Amino acid sequence: MSYSEKSTDWAAFDRRHLWHPYSAIDSGLPVFPVESARGVRLTLADGRELIDGMSSWWSAIHGYNHPRLNLAVRTQLEKMSHVMFGGLTHQPAVDLARRLIELTPEPLQTVFFADSGSVSVEVAMKMAIQYWHAQGEPGRSRFLTIRSGYHGDTFNAMSVTDPDNGMHSIFAGILAKQHFAPAPQSRFGALCSEADVEAFASKLESVETELAAVILEPVVQGAGGMRFYSADFLRAVRSLCDRHGLLLILDEIATGFGRTGRLFACEHAGIAPDIMCVGKALTGGYLTLAATLTTAEVSKVIGSGDPGLFMHGPTFMANPLACATALASIELLLESPWEAAVRRIESGLEAGLAPCRAMAHVADVRVLGAIGVVELRQPVDMREIQVQLVDAGVWVRPFGRLVYLMPPYIIDDTDLGQLTSAVAGVVGGMARASAR
Ligand SMILES: *Cc1c(COP(=O)(O)O)cnc(C)c1O
Repeated sequence: MSYSEKSTDWAAFDRRHLWHPYSAIDSGLPVFPVESARGVRLTLADGRELIDGMSSWWSAIHGYNHPRLNLAVRTQLEKMSHVMFGGLTHQPAVDLARRLIELTPEPLQTVFFADSGSVSVEVAMKMAIQYWHAQGEPGRSRFLTIRSGYHGDTFNAMSVTDPDNGMHSIFAGILAKQHFAPAPQSRFGALCSEADVEAFASKLESVETELAAVILEPVVQGAGGMRFYSADFLRAVRSLCDRHGLLLILDEIATGFGRTGRLFACEHAGIAPDIMCVGKALTGGYLTLAATLTTAEVSKVIGSGDPGLFMHGPTFMANPLACATALASIELLLESPWEAAVRRIESGLEAGLAPCRAMAHVADVRVLGAIGVVELRQPVDMREIQVQLVDAGVWVRPFGRLVYLMPPYIIDDTDLGQLTSAVAGVVGGMARASAR
């Protein structure tokens, strides 16, 4: 059997037997077999090379197959790939926790390692509930968030994800009922309007006694709409939480580790959360790992009340391979000129996506740090667009009305230029197609 026959054979099996994210079996939508990946390039089984514009959903910030990260995995593998974390501990977990506590805002002093972003959100929400329960206020069990958010796919994470953006409406009757304030309209870089603060404050005041916490993605709303809102709004939310004695959970799973130009997006507002979730880029895209950090105060209260334990403990908690890789990824990031790299990518995205601004079928083009978004007026036809992007030599995965880029920080100007011109070309072609 020739190589390409073999590859079509397993790809055909995939079509009939494998679920992909937000997919159906035998959907007829294209799925491209990848053979290997190195730097900013994915090599498909048919030999084509694609420039990666997604960092595998925010995670592969150093690109693929990095010698330093490979070495970290190999070195840890020779010691142990996993041991249970109940009653045992190990240096990769301790060293990584120490690093995360140093890098994140000062009040965050304890770390819970979870095995995915969604689980770290579940953990954050359970921490907030147990915090109030331990103080004899079990009625404080609901959450306030803003619309257009995304916090993951497990049930409680879904319950604080935008209820109307289509992804989860089927589960509406089953999900815990949470409270939603309007998404702020004030844009990143601008001061926050009175109206935005007012809308949030009045929602908060109307449901305050039921609330365990406010949960938000700081500054950048990811999969719920790729919106960039005013850092000033976040400051206002922090002071409202302080005034009402509420916990603030910040979900930095997408924004963490430099993507917005600051190490964590809450730094744009100069505020600290009471509970913070990180994930995605934590291991540089190598292994699944997330973490929930909280304050000494929240930790102490949870431990002091009934049942005196935090009720969560994944089988693969603090997986040593993942922790060692995360530590290497963070070192690599901090040793690199990542701030300059993100600024350079920001200018490249601005310049490269600028042609899209003039297109009548484009509603908005926005760039923040190493994130570029082209928002269309109509949803893209994935069947056609995905193939066109691959034919143009780039890996970009649009959803709904959004074509967006978040390349690895190591991308050079030539590859970035090729990436943005491929996107501008394909987006431009959509106008011609719809005019026919
Ligand atoms: C991706 C994401 C999650 C969920 O993380 P998973 O690892 O996919 O479970 C949660 N919150 C935000 C902001 C995310 O971008």
